[in-house]
Amino acid sequence: MLVIGLTGGIGSGKTAASDYLASKGISVVDADLAARVVVEPGQPALAAIRQRFGDGVIQADGALDRRALREIVFADSTARKDLEAITHPAIGEEIVRQLRASTSPYTLLVSPLLLESSQHKLASRILLIDVPEAVQLSRTASRDKVAEAQVKAIMAAQMPREEKRRRADDIVMNDADLASLHQQLDALHETYLKMAESHG
Ligand code: ATP
Repeated sequence: MLVIGLTGGIGSGKTAASDYLASKGISVVDADLAARVVVEPGQPALAAIRQRFGDGVIQADGALDRRALREIVFADSTARKDLEAITHPAIGEEIVRQLRASTSPYTLLVSPLLLESSQHKLASRILLIDVPEAVQLSRTASRDKVAEAQVKAIMAAQMPREEKRRRADDIVMNDADLASLHQQLDALHETYLKMAESHG
């Protein structure tokens, strides 16, 4: 199975890129969605979170109280590590389950933390959606209706752009219009289809 790991910083265009490839029939596994699935009521990871952090992180309807949990782990690195030790293996298993269920010629694994986490090990190749920081800043601020300072803080916490570029196998520059993004993806799509044939 050929798995293309698609990543990029906040607002780089990961969704725009994966939506386009999905429209060509390529299955998309979204790591953020997998992270939500594993903490749904009834999931073992949610029970483990309740055991470690107490009933205060569970809402009356049985769902995870994300805000309460975020407040706990924000200020406490041990708590954060404990949370990751519970969720990361479960997220990995959910991603693998979804990748195995895919029947398209190749599969996209979309994750903002592909390179920062062990998720990149599930990918045969890394495709980076790259944008200059000024574009990233203005697109994200206008999409989310937030201040540029807030976006800057998130960008500062992410892996530096240059490091991502070094680690990528393929890079799409998304600094122009959507037609330009699509044109670059068309070429990569053809390459990936050929690779998938020999990949088996
Ligand atoms: P996040 O990491 O925050 O989930 P993302 O990497 O998925 O973001 P998108 O949501 O795809 O990024 O793109 C960010 C914003 O920029 C969106 O509003 C999107 O419509 C817009 N955008 C993406 N690519 C282009 C482009 N080539 N031209 C114009 N607007 C674009």
